[in-house]
Amino acid sequence: MIIENERTKAASGKTYEVRNPATGEVVDEVPFGDVADVDRAAQAAAKAFTTWSKLAPNKRAEILHKAARNMLAKVEEIAPILTREQGKTLLESRLEAQRFGENIAWFADLADKVHGEHVSLPDTTTYGLVVRRPIGVCGAIVPWNFPLTLAANKVAPAIAAGNTVVLKPASTTPLATLACIEALIEGGLPEGVVNVVLGPATGDAIVGHPLIRKIALTGSTPTGRKVMARAADALKKVTLELGGSDPCIVLDDADLEAAARAISIGRFFNCGQACLAVKRLYIQEAAYAPLMEKLVARASKLKPGNGLDKDSRMGPMHSETQRAEVEAQLKDAVDRGAKVVYGGGRPKGAEYEKGWFIEPTILENVPDGARMWTEEVFGPALPVRKIKDLDEGLRLANDSEFGLGSSIWTGNMAAAHRAVSELEAGYTWVNALQIAHDELPFGGTKQSAHAAHWWRVDRAGPRLHQGQLHDRRHALVLDRHRPGGSRAVTGRGCPCLQAASRLVSR
Ligand code: NAD
Repeated sequence: MIIENERTKAASGKTYEVRNPATGEVVDEVPFGDVADVDRAAQAAAKAFTTWSKLAPNKRAEILHKAARNMLAKVEEIAPILTREQGKTLLESRLEAQRFGENIAWFADLADKVHGEHVSLPDTTTYGLVVRRPIGVCGAIVPWNFPLTLAANKVAPAIAAGNTVVLKPASTTPLATLACIEALIEGGLPEGVVNVVLGPATGDAIVGHPLIRKIALTGSTPTGRKVMARAADALKKVTLELGGSDPCIVLDDADLEAAARAISIGRFFNCGQACLAVKRLYIQEAAYAPLMEKLVARASKLKPGNGLDKDSRMGPMHSETQRAEVEAQLKDAVDRGAKVVYGGGRPKGAEYEKGWFIEPTILENVPDGARMWTEEVFGPALPVRKIKDLDEGLRLANDSEFGLGSSIWTGNMAAAHRAVSELEAGYTWVNALQIAHDELPFGGTKQSAHAAHWWRVDRAGPRLHQGQLHDRRHALVLDRHRPGGSRAVTGRGCPCLQAASRLVSR
């Protein structure tokens, strides 16, 4: 763990092993933290807050830029650490590590651009001013699928605005996170500004700690429910970014080559373990056969393998439990009559025996009610259904409790416009151009959506691809409920990034 810029053991002295999902080998042993360690980390962060929050914002920006440069110089060292603990390919790890440093730098630029508001009051001699100030100590709880990207999305805006952080990576992916924070510290991040605690018990302890005033969690929907309920005891602010089951509709007039490429990345990137992945595919009749052929051709090139091997195109799943879950969802579909069009099992060969490998899989004729339609499929398996027209596509796409993202491929502007208006998700990609409409701040489940509406002016344009990590920044969000209110936040394709911005200020 890291507390007050020092590597620290757990108060209990306990440790646990981190294993490589491709080989089962122990990669490292790390402290098994608990309530006592979270308390130390929170005290350290509270102490650091008294000075960090008072630094001039441009000075904070200068420190963060220097720290980010130091971290970015270590991307090649950090990427293999991430691959060993998470499983993803080296290319995917490099993108993530790079993104971590870039996020710190990007938010550093916002440190002196946090704006308040002027509010007119009925009496013309008085007026209200909304002044944005840092919240205090923030708790950042991160899942294992994108350990670095999601950590940076939380930590970067928080510290840029003068908050301090207690950060908890997923228990199975602590190592690259430690390496990134250490690199920031070496680059000049002051003591106690970011503290890292490890071990499964530390999440709940963070949510319950009285000094921690805001919680940002990315994780599964059931965990989000627990965290929200627990945080309610102390009326803490929470930002939850939870599960999704994003539909993708492809109409007959779509550019099928471009659609196949984006859908393949959107479903199989990171071995399918992404919140905003393409998780349900609806193809119109004439496009069905040619698009399926292209998707199968692409899937057949995704050679599973150890992420460190340069020939691997898809790493293993992160854990045995995750693989078992996806296999159970596949079995449920097949038992109900679905046809496996590609994959469907584990790859054969000695090199796959000790890891959690699974083939990229495409299924058709998956009946209504199958788990693949009703649950989040957090792995590289794609159910596909033929649709008659856009009406049917929209109806099926919206027949889900999830609402994180969605996409449509069409050459028809009127169809695209209808999809943007009628798809009940936080984001819709139209031919890979991303449009944010309703933000669902509590994790993308419709039940928990509330009335915040955001319109994004997207400067990155059609370079964005569903599920792909892309490299442009687009930043302007207009909040139409506050006349004149606009503020820069992060972008890049995930509601979690917008939501993370709320760490910035109160
Ligand atoms: P998870 O919910 O099991 O764990 C996420 C984090 O929460 C971990 O660090 C875990 O230790 C911690 N945690 C677990 N129980 C807790 C509790 N009671 N109190 C506090 N912390 C607790 O999720 P996971 O399996 O690690 O991640 C996969 C999930 O994350 C998927 O559902 C995926 O869709 C979702 N996700 C969402 C987004 C998004 O932006 N919406 C992004 C990435 C992943």
